[in-house]
Order: sequence, then C-alpha cells, then structure tokens
Amino acid sequence: MTKEIRHWVDGKEFTGSGRDTAPVTDPATGEITGRVQLASADDTRAAIASAKAAFPAWRDLSLTKRTRILFRFRELLEQRKPELARLITAEHGKTLPDALGEISRGQEVVEFACGMPHLLKGAMTENASTSVDVSSIRQPLGPVAVVSPFNFPAMVPLWFFPVAIAAGNTVVLKPSEKDPSASIWLAELWAEAGLPPGVFTVVQGDRTAVEELLTHPDIKAVSFVGSTPVARYVYTTASAHGKRVQALGGAKNHMLVLPDADLDITADAAVSAGFGSAGERCMAVSVVVAVGDVADRLVPLIAERAAAIKVGDGTRSCDMGPLVTAEHRDRVAGYIAAGEKDGAAVVLDGRHVQPDGDANGFWLGPTLLDHVTPTMSVYQAEIFGPVLAVVRAESLDAAIGLINANPYGNGACVFTRDGGAARRFRHEIEAGMVGVNVPVPVPMAYYSFGGWKNSLFGDTHAHGAEGVHFFTRGKVVTSRWPDPARGGLNLGFPQND
Ligand code: NAD
Repeated sequence: MTKEIRHWVDGKEFTGSGRDTAPVTDPATGEITGRVQLASADDTRAAIASAKAAFPAWRDLSLTKRTRILFRFRELLEQRKPELARLITAEHGKTLPDALGEISRGQEVVEFACGMPHLLKGAMTENASTSVDVSSIRQPLGPVAVVSPFNFPAMVPLWFFPVAIAAGNTVVLKPSEKDPSASIWLAELWAEAGLPPGVFTVVQGDRTAVEELLTHPDIKAVSFVGSTPVARYVYTTASAHGKRVQALGGAKNHMLVLPDADLDITADAAVSAGFGSAGERCMAVSVVVAVGDVADRLVPLIAERAAAIKVGDGTRSCDMGPLVTAEHRDRVAGYIAAGEKDGAAVVLDGRHVQPDGDANGFWLGPTLLDHVTPTMSVYQAEIFGPVLAVVRAESLDAAIGLINANPYGNGACVFTRDGGAARRFRHEIEAGMVGVNVPVPVPMAYYSFGGWKNSLFGDTHAHGAEGVHFFTRGKVVTSRWPDPARGGLNLGFPQND
C-alpha cells in the first residue's frame, strides 16, 4: 500500500487539482512507499489565498497569545519527535539518531522564536525635539514562502517558519518532493498546538509551485535552501518580483589541517563530518587540505576509521544510511570514477560496500580519494555524497589561497594547535561559518546560519537576529501631541529645537 501525501491548506489536508504525483521512495529498500501530489499553479494560488486571509488576524493577535502557541508547539515536538524521526528515515534514509539530531537542531530555533516578545522590542527616544518623541517598531511582512531541500526535511523548514510565524507572518512551505511527509506531520502538530488555520500552509510539488510562489504578488518574502543553480534562479526571479529573498545554495566545505594538529582527533572529525548523513549535508566536509607532510600521516588514520563505518538501513544500528535516490547514488559513483580517471588515488572505494540492508537500497560506502587537485571534477563539483577528497598544499598561505579560490563559501574549518594560525584562518577565510578544531560549525539558533559567495544569494542569513530582521520591516514613528501652550503655524522645514 502506498500512501498519498497531500497539501495542507486552511488547517487541514487539501487535495489539489490532481495535476500529477511523484513517487516517494524508501532509500533503504528502493520501494515506492507513497505518492506526493504536485501542486498546479491554481493549487498554489489557493494556498497563497489562505495564507493571505489568515494574516491580518494572526498579525493582530497579541504577542503573548502568539508566543504561547509557539511554546505548545515546542512541547509537542519534544514529546513526539521520535515519530517524526521515523518518517524522515523512511523517506530520506539517514539513520534514526541522525534524524533525531536534525529535529533537535530545528527545535532550538522554535525555542529561540519563543523569545519573540523580547526580539521585537523597539527603541524609543523621548524629547528628540521639544515635545517630539521618536520610536522604532518592527512589523511582519505578510504571507512568506519557504522552499526547502531534501537533505533536512525538518530542520531546514524549522530554520525559518518558527521565526516567521512568531513575528506575525503567515507561511507557505514548499518542501522537497523527495521526502514530503515531515511537512504534513509538522502541520498537524501546529494544528494541535492551536495555530489558527492558514497561518502554516504546505504546498507539495515541484518547479510549478515554486514559480507561483516566486512571482505571486501576495508573497512578500522567499526563504530558499537548495542547490546553487536553483538558489541563484530563485534569488533573481523573486527579487525581480519585488520580494525580499534569502537563497542558500550549495557548498564545498574545506578542512585545513596543519602539521601540528592532533591527528587522531582530526581524523575522527574528518570522518564524522565527511560521512555523517552519507555526506548529504550542506555543512559536510568534502575536502581535506593537508599542509606540508601531514597527509602521509593523516590519510591512513582517516582510511582506517572510514573503513570501519557500518553502512546500512537507518532503522538498524548502522552509522551511515543509503543515498536519497538511485539516480543520486549513480551520479556520486560517477564522480568517483571520474576522480580515478583523472589520477586521484582511490584509498577507500565505497562502490564495493556490503550494506546491512536490502539489496535494492541506494547504497554507496565511504570513499576516500587522495592526491586530488583543483582541476579535477571531483574537487570542483558539489558531490553531496560520502566522498572525501584530500588535497595537498605546501603552506598555510597556499591552503588559504586554495580555499578562497573556491566559488563556494558555506563552511570552512582549521585543525591546529597554533593559535596564531587559527586566528589568521578565522580572519582571512572567505566563508560564512568557520570552525576552529570544530568540523561542522553550525551556528546556534540565536546566531545566524548562512554562507558567502555561491553558497548564499541575498544578504541575510537564517534565524538569529538576521532571521528576525528578514521576517519584519522597520517603521520609525515621530510624534508630537498638541500642547495648548505651543500652537501656531510654522511652514519652515522641521528642525530639532
Ligand atoms: P534542489 O535545488 O534540487 O531543490 C531544492 C528545492 O527547490 C526543492 O524544494 C525543489 O523542489 C525545488 N526545485 C528544484 N528545482 C527547481 C527549479 N528548477 N525551479 C524551482 N524550484 C526547484 O536541492 P536538493 O537536491 O533538494 O538539496 C540539496 C542541495 O541543497 C545541495 O546543493 C545542498 O548543498 C543544498 N543545501 C544547502 C544548504 C545551505 O544552508 N546552504 C542547506 C541544505 C542543503
């Protein structure tokens, strides 16, 4: 039996026009477990109309009442997250502990958004001019859209919608069609938490739904996360239609290792960050840049650890699950073949993995390529799979130069015991999220998440202060109350007196 995954509009499931459906697969078995509806432009317009209708009442609900719903949502999420983790594993393939981990990181954004009354406090200046007071306030935008990728079906939407909703906006989420069930689960949880219908809406679908969200005049802002070509397109299209846009794109995250680093700790970090979630993380480390002779000592330590990773069904006690689709697995395997052909040394070859799982799953084991150079496709492409490349650099200067020449700038980290070198790395490296002896430097919810260069289009990162800024607009109010003692005409330009 395959399940039908529908939209969520007006606080309930919504069956669209039935334009088309797409298969949803369990990557650990290769079995089609569901069919997700693909919204037509009309379906998407119906969802936007619902979000628009819900906006005035939601905006006008007191902050106390809005925030109480956020607290209830947080409590329900905390109690019931194992259910959500199972849904994620069944459609994405990542292990259950990893799925729980992504939910917990998303939950931290809900907790941050519970503090919205504090975050929305404005400023007030009394007597800026005689009897004139000035105050600043921030107000919600209206209906906003969130378009999310397959690799974090819960966490990435949770980077945005708690902040947007707490600030008084209504949200239309278009999740990835590859793992859509988490979005409906979250919508049901919102309903249980008491969120009014229309404040959180889900439109399932593909490019057709996204096009409508990017161009519809009633959508005031777009938060997108996905691959760089689509992020660039979303940014240019939605901003040309007058919307504010934050479009987070792909990545190629480098780990710079200096010869003085603790190599056991560094090898543990490289393996965890390179192969966690089968490398399908935008903050995965995909390139180790080894300075001097450190590669000769480090590569065997990484290879030994990577070879011990247990690959298999995410519901069993494995370390790493399958890739999301058969096509993606084949594409990643194709990069390994290209790297080999280009002269990289295949130290560990994931194409021969023996998984603990169904033979029809989309398996690929950890792969380690040494002697990779920047001209190889395996270096240039965002592979988004369990492939770790080792590039050798002569010096810290050369390593920083190589990393900064890469078109992506999401995350970067350095492993060293030298504080001066780490400080220089932090200062000079062109990436939005930097780790010092931390391989996956994902910012806490009260900081903001986002990269530089081709990893983010727009100027605003997700959650934290930048998230609040993105989902609100400022207003400055200058007021004078008539004072019978100070009347009379004055046609001169207002001056501060
Ligand atoms: P994707 O770009 O294929 O899809 C992302 C979303 O855009 C999906 O909802 C999809 O339906 C929609 N979409 C796809 N093609 C479209 C098109 N032509 N026009 C309009 N919409 C379209 O990305 P994915 O494969 O789902 O996710 C993996 C990518 O996301 C990787 O590149 C990864 O680095 C990136 N990612 C980035 C971050 C970050 O924070 N920078 C976080 C997670 C994932």
